[in-house]
Parts: sequence; C-alpha cells; structure tokens
Amino acid sequence: MNIKNESIRGMHDYLPKEIIIWNHVETILKKILFSYCYNEIRLPILEYATLFKNTIGNTTDIITKEMYSFEDRNKKKLILRPEGTIGCARANIQHKLLNNNEQRLWYLGPMFRYERPQKGRYRQFYQMGVEAFGLKGPDIEVELILLTSRFWKNLGIDKHLILEINSIGSIDIRNKYKKDLLKFLKKNESLLDDDSKKRLGINPLRILDSKNPSIQILLKNGPKLHHYLDKNSSIFFKKLCYFMSDIGIPYTINNNLIRGLDYYNDIVFEWKTNKLGSQNTVCAGGRYDKLIEKLGGPKVPAVGFAIGMDRLILLIKEVSSLILPFFIDVYILIFDDSFKLEAIKLSELIRNKLPELKVMTNFYGVNVTKQFRLANKHNSRVALLLGPKEQEKKSILMKDLTNKTQKIVLKTELINELSFLL
Ligand code: ATP
Ligand code: MG
Repeated sequence: MNIKNESIRGMHDYLPKEIIIWNHVETILKKILFSYCYNEIRLPILEYATLFKNTIGNTTDIITKEMYSFEDRNKKKLILRPEGTIGCARANIQHKLLNNNEQRLWYLGPMFRYERPQKGRYRQFYQMGVEAFGLKGPDIEVELILLTSRFWKNLGIDKHLILEINSIGSIDIRNKYKKDLLKFLKKNESLLDDDSKKRLGINPLRILDSKNPSIQILLKNGPKLHHYLDKNSSIFFKKLCYFMSDIGIPYTINNNLIRGLDYYNDIVFEWKTNKLGSQNTVCAGGRYDKLIEKLGGPKVPAVGFAIGMDRLILLIKEVSSLILPFFIDVYILIFDDSFKLEAIKLSELIRNKLPELKVMTNFYGVNVTKQFRLANKHNSRVALLLGPKEQEKKSILMKDLTNKTQKIVLKTELINELSFLL
C-alpha cells in the first residue's frame, strides 16, 4: 500500500465492528456516571500551549517528549491536548463554575501523545476522565473508587483488575524526598539500567515505578516517600484506608506508586491488570488540590481519574466472551430495479411503525440469490422480497433467516408479522 495514504503512525481508524464494542462499553459507563450525578463536559482538543507550561510538570514525559505542538496561522502556540484534566480545570475557571460550588464532571475524547506506538499505547488514544472539584476528601475519593469498581463489575471484568493506592504527600514534601532519592540513586548510578539513568537527570521519581526487578531491589535500600509524609497527609491516607476497609473495597498499598504528572498531591491510585503486558494500567487518578489556583482560579480542592479507553476495550476483548453481533433485523430485497422505489417506501413504513428495528434496503443490482447471500452475510434476521408474483397478490415473501422458513404475507399484515422481532 502507498505509505502516504495510510493513517499517521500510532493513530488508527476505529472500524464499525470495533465501534459496536465501544458504544456498548460507553453506554454502560455513561449510565453509571448518570446514577452518581456526574455531568458531561465537552472540551476543545486544541489549547494554548501556555496552559500546559508549569502545570503538568516541565520534567514529565509529556512535556519533555510527548507533546504535539505547533503554531497556527497567527503564530499562536497551540498543543493537541495530551490529557483532559488541565483543559477541564481551565473551563471551570473560565466559566466561573467553581465559585462556592462543587462540580462532578466527566468527558470522553481523544488525547494525543508522541509515544512509541505498541499494543495499548498509541499517539491518538481515548480517555474518559472524571473530575470532582470543591471536595476535600477522602469521602469523594471513596465515591470515585466505588464508581470505578461499578464500571468493572458491570463490564464483567472486575476479576481482572486490582486497585493500588498510595499517598505521595504534599508537593513540598515530595520535592524534599526527590532530593534525597536523587542523592541515593546517584551514589548507585552504576547499578541503574539505561532507562533509569535517563530518568535520573529528568524525573527521578519515575524510577520508582520501574518494571526492572533489579531496580526494585535497589530501591528497597533507598529512602521511602511514605517516611517523609507529614501529619496531615498521614492522617488523610489512614482515613481513606479506613473508609475503604469499612466498605469492603479490596485494595493494595503500593508505596512506589507515583503519577506521571506533577500536579498530584496525597492520594494517587491505579487500576491494574496482568492481562495486557506492560501497558497494565487501565485507569489512573489522584488528588490535585493546587492545580486550580496555579491556573489562576480560586482555592479549590480537586480529585479525578482517567480511564484509558483503548486499554479498557483491549482488556474486555481479552478476558470476556462478549459477542456483540453485527446484525440487521429486516433486509429488503428486490426482484429487479423496478421495485426500488417500492422498497424504499416499504422500509420507511416499517421504520414508522416499528422504529426499534434495523431495516436495510438493498440497492445493489444483483440477482435475488446473490441478494439472499448478502442478507445472510449481514446477519439479517428476516429478508423480505418484493417481486412481480408477490405484487400481484398484494403480498411479500418473508423469509426467517434464522429458522430458514418462509411464507407469503399480505402487505396489510406485514407489520404484525414483523413484530416478533421486537
Ligand atoms: P503510562 O505510564 O502507561 O505511560 P501515564 O502515567 O502516562 O501512563 P496517564 O497520563 O495517567 O498515563 O493517563 C491515564 C490513562 O490513560 C493510563 O493509565 C492509560 O490507561 C491511558 N493512556 C495513557 N497514555 C496512553 C497511550 N499513549 N495510549 C493509550 N492509552 C494511554
Ligand atoms: Mg505515559
């Protein structure tokens, strides 16, 4: 294939059969969000680059190497959003939604990061983000975690996800810890792998979630972030753990869990699976009490998470036998082109009377046998044939393609005859 006519590397098409699963999953998630009173917000895909400077963290992967940025015709620096929290926070400040108000919001859409594409990691991918503004927690953390648990349960994948939580303390404490960790890692630099060596100079905290077992062994002798937590952070974390245990939500404390973005404080959590190789985090979130102020808004606490929708769908396909048939209820066939108009009218009549049904009219100029083959190929439940013999008798040939039975039905009886499809 001519390479120029392919989609951009890491940005793929989501074809109709795939979209059936996406729609099914999105419907389940949206219903649950509705029941928890979270409202949808739709945000632009492009934002001013300045919005992301000094908020995500200048040494994070996103800022240092993953951002799609460019100038528009007016020389304004823009970026394709790499995540949704910053834009959502910006919108809430811009529209003054946070003045003495709490907000529970969600959004769903594409995000863009210039990463090395692989299974579960793309350059355009979809996130569903859920954010709660104006609530100090940790009760709201519990609500968010219950909400995600319900997602997994209703999708039938709860057995394949485990929840890890941690407290990363305040931003100041974390900076103090970062200095000590750096000292320790520099002393042991010869034991680090290439990836960790690279991170050492840029963002040493990310070495904590290295997948290399020898790095994890080394870190056991290093300084521990949880020993640095101040009283407020410790109490907050203990309270959350107590709430979760009391309600009976299973979780694991992972003291090495940190988030890729700088704006988090205190609680961070991730839902992980062992079914997707190294792209094992399906949902990640945490508290970010200082972000709104940093963006010029009021002093408002906040917490949220994002689900990697592509990974979620991969997981569902991997572990469940979810078969969503691509089917048609009524497939209308024509003896020849002279019946085309009548076929269109008939399909409209069925849609008027039985709007729940999926009705397809065949416009393809092939013989009746081939049209029946097409009807079967499309997984049609019933085929209707309009032909001269039937027209004479003011009737239609109706074939049940599941039972392989057929009969002639009067046009006046057709709607009644089709109602078994509902
Ligand atoms: P990772 O460590 O996998 O790079 P991250 O810390 O960069 O993840 P977040 O910014 O927290 O990820 O994004 C939340 C979720 O979005 C991730 O847990 C993941 O499920 C999904 N995600 C992030 N980047 C990608 C990507 N490039 N392709 C597909 N999904 C992604
Ligand atoms: Mg990343």
